Amino acid sequence: MNQRDYLKLHNILKSFKSDEIECCKKGKQKVFNAHAVSNSKITFKVIQNRKGHRPDRKNLSYVLMSKGEWMVRVDLHGQNHKGVPTPHIHIYDELHDNGQIAISLKSLAHYNETDDVIQSFVEFLKYNCFKHGINISNALDI
Ligand SMILES: [Zn+2]
Repeated sequence: MNQRDYLKLHNILKSFKSDEIECCKKGKQKVFNAHAVSNSKITFKVIQNRKGHRPDRKNLSYVLMSKGEWMVRVDLHGQNHKGVPTPHIHIYDELHDNGQIAISLKSLAHYNETDDVIQSFVEFLKYNCFKHGINISNALDI
């Protein structure tokens, strides 16, 4: 995504349809529809993914999309990316070669690296400029 579009879409204040959302179940992924607070026609999707290649291993990642394009991906488990340790973030802008250049979460000033299924969601929403007051609850099977 070009830098100008990325920054505009990333920095705009976002919300979900409801302030109450429920986490994805273990072993699944869930898509949450979101929009800009100032303009509901500017839409986003947040994907919480708990589906791994290896069921015996933990897996948790997050994606922010807009208009079918990936904007941000956070990998909390799994393989290092070109020498960058996990957890790390991919930013799909020009500055980061459209996600090819990953950044360790450690090097982001205010990002908590937790892999707690709720707290990590809170961190992802905070990073991506979602409004405050969104209540995230556990799915019943956790
Ligand atoms: Zn990665």
